[in-house]
Amino acid sequence: MTVTNSTLLDELVEGRPPVDGRFGPYGGRYVPETLMEILQRLETRAIELLADPKFRSELEAEQREFIGRPTPLTRAPALGERWGAEVFLKREDLCHTGAHKINNAIGQALIARRLGADRIVAETGAGQHGVATAAAAARIGLPCTIYMGAVDARRQKPNLERMRLLGADVVLVEAGDQTLRAAIDEAFRAWVADPEGTYYLLGSVVGPHPYPWMVREFQSVIGIEARAQFVESGLELPDVAVACVGGGSNAIGLFRGFIGDPGVELLGIEAAGHGGQDDPHSATLGFGSTGVLHGAMTPLLQDEHGQVLDTHSVAPGLDYPGVGPEHALLRDLGRARYESATDDQALEALDECSSLEGILPALESSHALAGAKRWASEHSDGRIVVGLSGRGDKDIQLLTGEVSHG
Ligand SMILES: *Cc1c(COP(=O)(O)O)cnc(C)c1O
Repeated sequence: MTVTNSTLLDELVEGRPPVDGRFGPYGGRYVPETLMEILQRLETRAIELLADPKFRSELEAEQREFIGRPTPLTRAPALGERWGAEVFLKREDLCHTGAHKINNAIGQALIARRLGADRIVAETGAGQHGVATAAAAARIGLPCTIYMGAVDARRQKPNLERMRLLGADVVLVEAGDQTLRAAIDEAFRAWVADPEGTYYLLGSVVGPHPYPWMVREFQSVIGIEARAQFVESGLELPDVAVACVGGGSNAIGLFRGFIGDPGVELLGIEAAGHGGQDDPHSATLGFGSTGVLHGAMTPLLQDEHGQVLDTHSVAPGLDYPGVGPEHALLRDLGRARYESATDDQALEALDECSSLEGILPALESSHALAGAKRWASEHSDGRIVVGLSGRGDKDIQLLTGEVSHG
């Protein structure tokens, strides 16, 4: 069977759950047999619930009362003047717990409760997803266990403390590389051991189906809100929507609002690290090759033997060797473009946004700002919306050199 590219794009624009979890050649479900049935059940229930008006109004109430939505669309006139563009910031930094991750955590915690799970497990790297999950689990009334690499826990002590204060049981993983990769392995193991009672709360648009689709649905509120805010203010839609890409959840959420507007360019910014040819980085869509990572077929950073490569970014949340399968298809179809920004470019953008606008962005979000700044230099008087995925308070220790990135 041949499927034309325009059919694939139409399907993406429509946004229905992908058949078999496939985004073109990407996605799918590459997991042990024990999890197949669990994932199928999750898919069926998630599709039902997301179409159920009662569930949706529960979700919307949490978005409003707990997360603090809608988040503002903020004009950034001083940045705009500096860059020669009209700049708007979609303020996910103002979400409860400081970033977009809570949009997904709350959504999945509500699903976990509907599924009758008796606990939530999750892994965390830098701790942001762990904090969002701990907060969501407490709010929904389910106990949660967060797996965190021992090295990451030392580097991200404040997030470790926040998770514990929010009532999470944090398990420090001493195995393997003692970072995100080892934490994912441990969380997976806990899930496989008790797939009925345990709900695995994944933090980005990665992993086996239905996660990439389901997480996108919970993050799509970013773009849908942003588009409505342009329209309600009587503003023309932006020329470009820019967001940083780690796993890709905040970017896909922002893109979702504008994917049906052919006049709006979609631009994802990956982390180029130090930027040297042979230096480690996290620019998966730019330099990765297709393989299976964490249950999905997707571009990943691997060597010629299929060994996953070490990654680097100054932004802890971008430091991941894979990327969401839907981004890979958007790239192949030419609907979205992906570039990268170096550590130094992100730091410069962070400095400009903070001092000119009074908004301290997360290091991750600063990559989006750096990408927006480059876009502005290539287009005169363009109109840009930047996904400001999180606030930078969490990065103070990295910014002041109190802890090294490692
Ligand atoms: C985790 C994180 C990211 C990266 O995750 P995505 O799934 O790519 O969105 C970006 N920004 C912030 C603030 C984060 O905490």
